[in-house]
Amino acid sequence: MVYSPYMGGRFRVSSPYGWRTLSGVREFHGGIDLVGADGDTDVCASVGGKVIQSRIIYDHSNLTWQWGNYVSVEGEDGNVIYYCHLAERYVEKGETVTAGQRIGKQGHTGYSFGDHLHFEVRRGGNRINAANYLGVQNVAGMRYYDLPVAAPDYADLVCRKCRFEQQTRDYLNAYKYASDLWRKLYEQMV
Ligand SMILES: [Zn+2]
Repeated sequence: MVYSPYMGGRFRVSSPYGWRTLSGVREFHGGIDLVGADGDTDVCASVGGKVIQSRIIYDHSNLTWQWGNYVSVEGEDGNVIYYCHLAERYVEKGETVTAGQRIGKQGHTGYSFGDHLHFEVRRGGNRINAANYLGVQNVAGMRYYDLPVAAPDYADLVCRKCRFEQQTRDYLNAYKYASDLWRKLYEQMV
């Protein structure tokens, strides 16, 4: 199951995967560019997995600088997903993320001319068509897609980040509005 890379679920495609010409230069676009609907800039993990990189490279001799702030996640499905041009990153290398977990904020760091998310998928090191992977048309336009949003296990996220013991978790779960409380606690942490 591949979930929406946006917390609100909705987004459009601003540039497709494949060959394109930018400022007269023909280049292969290894991912698909997305823009969240209605100002939604909260980027979340499409699949759960392990964060293998969370960084920004300023050295222009390393082409990875173009990605700006980026997070890459080795997904449970064996693919590696790159979330690029982020304004902010909320996860660190080595962390485990669950589908739907907020990992960053859409931005325009690196080689980018406007707020968007460069979403790239690699399988066995090779780039694959990210539009197919998400189940959207590989065409830029104003059409909005509404993909399912995974509900993150906030209690689990908070307990892991804060190193809460089971006792604390049980105590807070006894509270009537526990699920809302966990979500609020989590939002205070990122
Ligand atoms: Zn792109």
